[in-house]
Amino acid sequence: MKKRILITGAAGFLGSHLCDKFIKEGYHVIGMDNLITGDKRNIEHLFKLENFEFYHHDVTTFVHVPGNLDYILHFASPASPIDYLKIPIQTLKVGSLGTHNLLGLAMVKKARILIASTSEVYGDPLVHPQTEDYYGNVNTIGPRGVYDEAKRFQESITMAYHRFHGLETRIVRIFNTYGPRMRLNDGRVIPAFIGQALRGEDLTVFGDGSQTRSFCYVDDQVDGIYRLLLSDYAEPVNIGNPHEITIRDFAEEIIKLTGTDQKIIYKPLPQDDPMQRQPDITRAKALLDWEPKVSREEGMRKTYEYFKSLSEDELYRSEH
Ligand code: NAD
Ligand code: UDP
Repeated sequence: MKKRILITGAAGFLGSHLCDKFIKEGYHVIGMDNLITGDKRNIEHLFKLENFEFYHHDVTTFVHVPGNLDYILHFASPASPIDYLKIPIQTLKVGSLGTHNLLGLAMVKKARILIASTSEVYGDPLVHPQTEDYYGNVNTIGPRGVYDEAKRFQESITMAYHRFHGLETRIVRIFNTYGPRMRLNDGRVIPAFIGQALRGEDLTVFGDGSQTRSFCYVDDQVDGIYRLLLSDYAEPVNIGNPHEITIRDFAEEIIKLTGTDQKIIYKPLPQDDPMQRQPDITRAKALLDWEPKVSREEGMRKTYEYFKSLSEDELYRSEH
């Protein structure tokens, strides 16, 4: 019998890559998504397969799936700052009510559930690099609070189900991940810079560009999540690439990669934009024998190839 896995957020960037991974590993995959920020085209190639099903459903309402389930991956949530600022209430609901529904489903099905948390639970961190035992520095009432606090609640309710009901739970704290199938207009820095380079526009660095991020290629991220799901560890685990860079230097790298003759222009820094971010992955190395393998150079080359292959129409539709 094939193992059966439910993946929420299946039509999104990470969800669609996770569907591919579990299909490849021989699972029966049930994808669920309400398409609020996702795109069916990300999983179109799976529709013809016998071991793939898709439910168009909003997980903040009661979730029903026929048959047994061995695993649940809860990845549904707006994930980019412009998305969650545009739909703040849905963001809070999918992290709270959505997670509650899926934990309930996991109880009924006796399934193991892994939830997608984020480096944003550390807010604008005062500890660097961030270890899992750092409690974070989040502005609860700031604009980003809708995402950060939904994810913090998600972690708390997941641990409560684990401790109170003995449910098998896993929590991954995902750090900035990139690769093919990111949306050109999702506002995140990689699609933003590459889209600008392809359209012949200047690259918009927010603030003075001294803030840092650490970018993880999607294949490495998916491998880390896969290992965590199959591990026996219920506490949160950071999965990300510790190779840190300032946003200004990163813009220079994109200018080189794309060969554009555009320049960098500076725009105001959004409120509560974290100044630095780098995962401490000691725990993932020790428990999962995992570390990232894809260099930024290689990952960015593949990502650029993907964006270059999009039609002119998509490229210009993505302006906002
Ligand atoms: P994405 O926007 O590409 O995918 C999210 C998917 O969830 C979309 O397809 C969307 O339509 C779906 N969705 C949203 N609300 C829903 C609802 N109520 N019901 C059903 N489906 C719903 O984003 P992503 O980058 O793939 O992120 C996936 C998950 O990983 C999110 O939970 C996000 O918080 C987490 N995460 C991602 C990153 C990253 O760098 N990509 C970093 C940290 C955490
Ligand atoms: N950023 C930028 N220009 C852009 C988009 C983003 O300088 O056009 C910056 C943003 O202010 C942040 C960093 O790039 O400091 C990463 O932003 P992103 O939205 O990708 O992710 P997050 O802030 O959630 O890490």
